[in-house]
Amino acid sequence: MNACVQALTQLLGASNVLTEGDLSSYELDWRKRWRGRALAVVRPGSTEEVAAVMRLCAQHKTAVVPQGGNTGLVGGGITDTSGSQILLSLRRLTQVRQVDAANLTLTLEAGCVLAQAQQAAAQAGLLLPLSLASEGSCTIGGNLASNAGGTQVLRYGNARELCLGLEVVTPAGDVWNGLSGLRKDNTGYDLRHLYIGSEGTLGVITAAVLRLAPQPVARMTAMATCQRLADAVRLLELAQHVASSLLTGFEVMNTLSLALVRKHFPQLSQPLPPSPWTVLLELSDGESPSHAEAVFNTLLERAQAQGVIQDAAVASSMAQSNTMWHVRESISLAQSQEGLNIKHDIALPISCIPVFDEQAGALLASHMPGIRVVNFGHLGDGNLHYNVQAPLGVDPVRFLQEQEGPVNQIVYDAVQRLGGSISAEHGIGQLKCSELQQRKSPVELDLMRSIKRALDPASLMNPGKVLAP
Ligand SMILES: Cc1cc2nc3c(=O)[nH]c(=O)nc-3n(C[C@H](O)[C@H](O)[C@H](O)COP(=O)(O)OP(=O)(O)OC[C@H]3O[C@@H](n4cnc5c(N)ncnc54)[C@H](O)[C@@H]3O)c2cc1C
Repeated sequence: MNACVQALTQLLGASNVLTEGDLSSYELDWRKRWRGRALAVVRPGSTEEVAAVMRLCAQHKTAVVPQGGNTGLVGGGITDTSGSQILLSLRRLTQVRQVDAANLTLTLEAGCVLAQAQQAAAQAGLLLPLSLASEGSCTIGGNLASNAGGTQVLRYGNARELCLGLEVVTPAGDVWNGLSGLRKDNTGYDLRHLYIGSEGTLGVITAAVLRLAPQPVARMTAMATCQRLADAVRLLELAQHVASSLLTGFEVMNTLSLALVRKHFPQLSQPLPPSPWTVLLELSDGESPSHAEAVFNTLLERAQAQGVIQDAAVASSMAQSNTMWHVRESISLAQSQEGLNIKHDIALPISCIPVFDEQAGALLASHMPGIRVVNFGHLGDGNLHYNVQAPLGVDPVRFLQEQEGPVNQIVYDAVQRLGGSISAEHGIGQLKCSELQQRKSPVELDLMRSIKRALDPASLMNPGKVLAP
């Protein structure tokens, strides 16, 4: 047996150092795009055990790939195929350490599944305002390591903005306890922000303090249709003026997105007829249901009077609201059923989104007539999932193989021209490593490499991810 694996087995016991059997839930990613082969899957149960694992791996010069719920979409939590890297699963670190109602914070371990963390907050009558379609499986550690976004960023911010403190194990096996939960702390460099979004390349997040919010007393959800994407942007502007901080969700979907949901999930009722663009918007109110309704009605009336929306359907029950969200969240699945596609998770200044859609759409159509753009996403955050599907009748596997490079080039060039980002929320992982290399300035890449060298001098943390070797 490999000496490192032997030492790890002595430390954690054979049941927590897996080297054989079906390891595909750890070695194969959610999209089934990357399959790694790990030296061992190691499952510590506490921060102290994580620290001991890291000390042993450092001693044996063995690389470590941290993994939470394995729902990441860029291959960041998957080992390479050499059989020489340890896959460090944090899923056994599941303690909720403290709910502090007066401080509005939740302190919990990295392996807690997001849905369980939301429940822990709800049990104290509070809201953990982080919500993703993968919340039944993804973990807090993974959310922070990838700076997850989701559907409430518009009001509450992304994982970074919700995090007030971290506990991190360094590659050398030291524990940094930064679980202060302070809202103000100007005592030098804020290390927390280096680890958030670092995708496991700098250290292992073992616990965090998250910011909570009061539970809203009323929620209003509606779908509305627009003729043009520019109208959806105008509706967003109007909603921000009329509803201000009550606006918690603003999603946009093009006609093809909803057509695919109709085709593959005909049982899901869609309240409005097909339209070039459909918006899903939500208000959350701390005052009263009647206040929420009054604000919502004012917004929709003004939008209709200004010709921004054509039609609107307001959910009259929680069940209807859930169905509207279900429709939105089924787009990715409907797309998978339609066949492999080229995914983009891009950010742009909101004001540039209609121009981007026009420019990229025209370039793609002339590159390959019949190409299908499934454009949907968190318009309120300037974040689009701009996915590209093969023309009807073209084999999706061949399409992905032959067209991923040229299509990415067209889309990312258009993004870059308008000052956007090639990754709004999914991260870089192994998927976008070379793209990052090409598109960041040499100064920025140098600064990033200096940080990596300073915090992980032996380059043992998640090698080959984010920064190309
Ligand atoms: C259906 C679906 C919907 C999704 N929707 C969204 C969305 O709306 N918004 C969004 O942002 N993402 C979304 N995602 C992507 C994914 O769910 C999130 O990125 C999530 O935050 C990943 O959490 P995880 O625990 O599964 O992390 P993993 O997939 O296990 O890991 C992700 C990255 O974090 C690192 N990592 C994991 N745990 C730790 C740790 N404790 N310490 C250090 N590094 C660690 C890994 O090495 C890897 O690089 C979605 C995914 C799916 C499958």
